[in-house]
Amino acid sequence: MEIAETTTSVREKVKAARSQGKKIGLVPTMGALHIGHIALIERAVQDCDFVVVSIFVNPTQFCPGEDLENYPRPLETDLEICEKTGVDLVFTPTTEQMYGTANLTWVTVDKLTEPLCGRFRPGHFRGVTTVCAKLFNIVLPDVAYFGQKDGQQAIVIKKMVADLNMPLQIVVCTTIREPDGLAVSSRNQYLTAQQKKDAALIYQSLRKCEELVGGGVTDTESIIAEMRQILSRAPAMEIEYVNILDAETLEQIDSIDRKVLAAVAVKLGQARLIDNILVDVGPQ
Ligand code: AMP
Repeated sequence: MEIAETTTSVREKVKAARSQGKKIGLVPTMGALHIGHIALIERAVQDCDFVVVSIFVNPTQFCPGEDLENYPRPLETDLEICEKTGVDLVFTPTTEQMYGTANLTWVTVDKLTEPLCGRFRPGHFRGVTTVCAKLFNIVLPDVAYFGQKDGQQAIVIKKMVADLNMPLQIVVCTTIREPDGLAVSSRNQYLTAQQKKDAALIYQSLRKCEELVGGGVTDTESIIAEMRQILSRAPAMEIEYVNILDAETLEQIDSIDRKVLAAVAVKLGQARLIDNILVDVGPQ
């Protein structure tokens, strides 16, 4: 496994692999790798001949007051994980490498970035799309891998790639969970034992949505009320949003008659946790 710290170096190494006819896969991450990231990397290793993992805590996707400074950065462990998982190249750029001294060009995706996390993290998606556009331009992968865990992010990235005619495929991998259903996240490290127990309610609320839709309930308002009821069992949990939206357009719907994204965001102690599931009404 090789490590590249500069854009020039990563480009050279990828170019060499491509000249051998290899299919290039990219897994963009902010490090603090866990089994969720590993699942993405394993998928990339399975599908591609040359796998690049980027590890970059992207400052432009953090809002003022968020955990940019405290975000875990266990680089040595991350590199060991990459090595063991069969990664060919790890890209660990500095902020200077990615943004220079004055970045004046940004990528924004309209509309899809307005609801859910867009409402609570102004500027977040602009940071995400800009850094992903940069990574795609630097690495020029054939395929890039993202997690359903960040469902809105995956939808936004797919739209950016389609709208800007970027020549790569986006693959979205299923969310990896703890045995109690809690979606694995680098931010789970911030949770105490009690908060971790409370956090399991998030997936329970999502399962409730699935169960109600499966039982023929279509009214989003009443489903959301039941989901909130479950979350309210943990008084320490501060709900940011509970929503059920069209899974493609992220538009508000009153009655579920198509595939939807049920999504939850909460604050629990030091952590902000998000999770979602896709729910389909199935054949009518
Ligand atoms: P992050 O390092 O948090 O920016 O995440 C990097 C990628 O890993 C993103 O595409 C995430 O959606 C994905 N990811 C994070 N946690 C999980 C998980 N529990 N299951 C699947 N993918 C995940």
